Amino acid sequence: MNAHPMPTSTLSLVRTPLVTVEKLRVDMPLGRSGASVNIVDGVDFTIGVGERMALVGESGSGKSITARALMQLDRVAKVTGKVDFEGTDLLKLSDREMRKLRGSSIAMVFQDPMSFLDPLMTIGDQVAETLRIRGIGKAEARKRALSVLDELGVDRAAERINAYPHEFSGGMRQRVVLAMALVGEPRLLIADEPTTALDVRVQDQVLDLLDDVSTRRGLAVLLITHDLGVVAGFADRVMVMYSGRIVEDGEVGDVFARPRHPYTQGLIKAVPRIDQDHAKLYAIPGAPPPPMNRPNGCTFHPRCDQRFERCSQDVPVMLPVGRTRVACHLHDGKGI
Ligand code: SF4
Repeated sequence: MNAHPMPTSTLSLVRTPLVTVEKLRVDMPLGRSGASVNIVDGVDFTIGVGERMALVGESGSGKSITARALMQLDRVAKVTGKVDFEGTDLLKLSDREMRKLRGSSIAMVFQDPMSFLDPLMTIGDQVAETLRIRGIGKAEARKRALSVLDELGVDRAAERINAYPHEFSGGMRQRVVLAMALVGEPRLLIADEPTTALDVRVQDQVLDLLDDVSTRRGLAVLLITHDLGVVAGFADRVMVMYSGRIVEDGEVGDVFARPRHPYTQGLIKAVPRIDQDHAKLYAIPGAPPPPMNRPNGCTFHPRCDQRFERCSQDVPVMLPVGRTRVACHLHDGKGI
């Protein structure tokens, strides 16, 4: 667990929207039966230019599938809704147009750098490849690869550009993967649990690096994580996802200072504290429902210690509450 301090306030910034997602829905086919299961159910959000947005929730909440849907990475998925990126609806682009955009406008880094790197290619060639695909000459691509490896703190980059992934430590490999993502100068970086496979010390180094790069380049970041310590230390805003829907979002300081959704409250309560007896660690009871068997009404109701009659019948919608948005009947003004 990362030990970043929890902020109590965050400066409210009005940013130019970079990506606006409306009613995003992702359905996955179930084998060859023709049936499908809904994974992401009508998600709306905006990420501003240079903004760091965190998407949090337990495993299986739909976070990674949401991110992959923005990049159209799951070929079998049925993705509907709208993903407006600087005036272009990404869901309307052809495969060819989307390939062009990946890496140049939007890039993604994943949890396990080793699964992303080709063990038989030098890191220099792998970083330069994004540019080579875009028709940039070998010498220029290599020059830019070296410059970004240098920017990301790879020691003796000029020498190590000819090394292979197995010659790098886990933290250095994650820097190489970041270099591959950033060499095309994207405006949005999607980072899916980028530090989960790393030890705590290296996690902090990678997050500091991401912090520096995003500030220096004005790069927007969508950070997917289950670690609220990472959110507190890195993000401007946070969206909490449960069972395929966003249930709360707002600026990190506002959400952490006053979480309104019982699920967010549970996630925050479950964060281990240094002064806490480990035997008394809180855990939200139960587990998220499988997507093919979601409960009626509020899908969190079987686990919610504040549920009441309406919760198992009506689906709560996202409504503004103070400076945040929340999907919970406790806050819809209709009473208990
Ligand atoms: Fe709990 Fe009801 Fe709110 Fe769902 S709608 S989080 S069950 S209080």
